[in-house]
Amino acid sequence: MTTPFGCMGIAQIKAGLAAKEFSAAEVAKGTFARIAAVDETVHSFLETTEQMAAEAAARVDAAIAEGTFGEMGLLAGVPVAFKDNMNLLGTRTTCSSRMLENYVSPYTATCVENCLQAGCLPIGKLNMDEFAFGSSTETSAFGPTRNPWDLERVPGGSSGGSAAAVAAGLVCATLGSDTGGSIRQPGAFCGVVGVKPTYGTVSRYGVVAFGSSLDQVGPFARSVEDAALMMNVLAGRDPLDCTSQPCSADFTAVLAEGVRGMRIGVVPEFMEAEGLTAEVREGVAAAVEQLRQLGAEIVEVDLPHARAAMSAYYVLGPCEAFSNLARFDSVRYGYCDPGHTDLGSQYEASRAVGFGAEAKRRIMLGSYLLSAGVYDKYYYPAQQVRTLITQDYKRAYEQVDCILSPVAPRTAFKFGEIGDPTEMYLSDMFTISINIAGNGGMSVPVGLGSQTNLPVGVQLISPWFKDANMLQVAAALETVYGKAPVAPAFAEGGEA
Ligand code: GLN
Repeated sequence: MTTPFGCMGIAQIKAGLAAKEFSAAEVAKGTFARIAAVDETVHSFLETTEQMAAEAAARVDAAIAEGTFGEMGLLAGVPVAFKDNMNLLGTRTTCSSRMLENYVSPYTATCVENCLQAGCLPIGKLNMDEFAFGSSTETSAFGPTRNPWDLERVPGGSSGGSAAAVAAGLVCATLGSDTGGSIRQPGAFCGVVGVKPTYGTVSRYGVVAFGSSLDQVGPFARSVEDAALMMNVLAGRDPLDCTSQPCSADFTAVLAEGVRGMRIGVVPEFMEAEGLTAEVREGVAAAVEQLRQLGAEIVEVDLPHARAAMSAYYVLGPCEAFSNLARFDSVRYGYCDPGHTDLGSQYEASRAVGFGAEAKRRIMLGSYLLSAGVYDKYYYPAQQVRTLITQDYKRAYEQVDCILSPVAPRTAFKFGEIGDPTEMYLSDMFTISINIAGNGGMSVPVGLGSQTNLPVGVQLISPWFKDANMLQVAAALETVYGKAPVAPAFAEGGEA
């Protein structure tokens, strides 16, 4: 039985192409055939881009024929798919919302463009929580994505489609976005590597904004090396995003260096947090022990204000979302409810129909929090808390090179299991402070939970623009736990 292309890694695909074992056209065709066969159950894709992939594959095959394949980019011939809040010229960018159901991108986001320039085969657009509000993909207007490890369970969110597509072995790399945990938590739930780079590492141009001071794009992959390669493709200054920074790092350079002599911080308060399940605590503690045995120095660090991160985020996030979503006014963008003769009722009806419940909750919350008299009581203190959390991390990094924590308090939950929005918000209790402070965070799988038998993830948290540090630790953990496997039912010999 031949290995499906989606179950291979980047290096394996490129080596196969270089050795002419298969052509890029075959990679594209095989990938779409597998998606057609498997994704009906998983529902990670909202749209596939056969034509674009065929054109990209033809360029790769021409280079192979001419002997110039080696001069092509890092992703030459490698299938990559994108979260549906990323513009790709000529595709629909729906953000999994009725509001943008028929919106066709007039341009391409820089993060997507960088992958195209690197020679990738663009495979399509991936399901998500509506406008990235959520932790389960249950708020998608087009139906949820299922977790490939257990189809009764959520893949996490908001980048649930991006994580599930990799876990199901449909593609080896995808892009997601993370405002409060939306790459790391689905990474943990689906047992794959997910990287939220330091704010400013990857351009946000062309990614539909949720919280502009918090949003960051990053990759999903089944190996740390593939995630690091994707970081090489994505990172760098973009004149179209004034918050993006120059980056000349080769994120793969440090992967083999190990952790001997590295100082890794653990936060006792996180390990004792209410709601953290025993199996996740055990999994994380075991990973710490492994790193100690590999020669890392484990240091306890204190992040005294991290417990206020959730409260600050649910002020700052909705305020920014409220402002960003004002553009969906049925005139410039988005669903337009027919038959209205005055603008006010057209706005009202269009937004009432176009937005789902969670989006409306955030918009109303943001609108209230930014109103006169209320603003001073919430928004301003939330910004002060932001500074305090950032200072906590700065102090911690005087003692350590990287911090380790759980990603999420538990493994993947069942559809409908969490109905209360505030309980859902707690999914991100360990990830949110990193978006608030802007440093880098990633999720790396460390085996299965002893109770649920579902993937457990460890979060590694880097100092600002030292994202290589966390990738280095992740690579060390990978030597112990192995690369992330394709979910059993979708692996070779599995049912799917
Ligand atoms: N789950 C969090 C929220 O709903 C984070 C989402 C995200 O990172 N996009 O806001």
